[in-house]
Amino acid sequence: MILDLSDLKEVGSQKNYVKEIEVSKIDYRHKEIKLKGPIKVNLDVLKTERSFVLKGDLECTLVLQCSRCLKYFDYMIEVEISDELNIEDIEDLHNINIFPHLVSDIILEIPIKPLHDENCKGLCPICGQNLNEGDCDCEVENIDPRLEKLKEFKQK
Ligand SMILES: [Zn+2]
Ligand SMILES: [Zn+2]
Repeated sequence: MILDLSDLKEVGSQKNYVKEIEVSKIDYRHKEIKLKGPIKVNLDVLKTERSFVLKGDLECTLVLQCSRCLKYFDYMIEVEISDELNIEDIEDLHNINIFPHLVSDIILEIPIKPLHDENCKGLCPICGQNLNEGDCDCEVENIDPRLEKLKEFKQK
């Protein structure tokens, strides 16, 4: 998203941007995350003496993978944008790319362990059956932690 702020000369002058950015994916931890639909941005820019203050919000839908059952699911993100660009740091007032700022705002909202449903049962660790779709016949050992300690002790 490119801003042209060359016309904001007076301190206190403002500008509003409403934009839909079409991107199909963003990079996140050396992986790609797909997006469904555009990133919708509504942004107010205010000129101050030394900076431009950016305030607004953005909305987008990511396609995340469930950390338990590995299924892909849609995840809607709404973030408030609150940023400030120092005028000294801006090379070209006609051409300010704030897209990297928007991406880092989005990335902060991505859960570390996404779940397609908070009650997701995940996959059987033995046969890989998706336990949301039905049980398998594997015997999952439920080891009492106290017995486990005893077992370790005996092995020594
Ligand atoms: Zn899941
Ligand atoms: Zn199983």
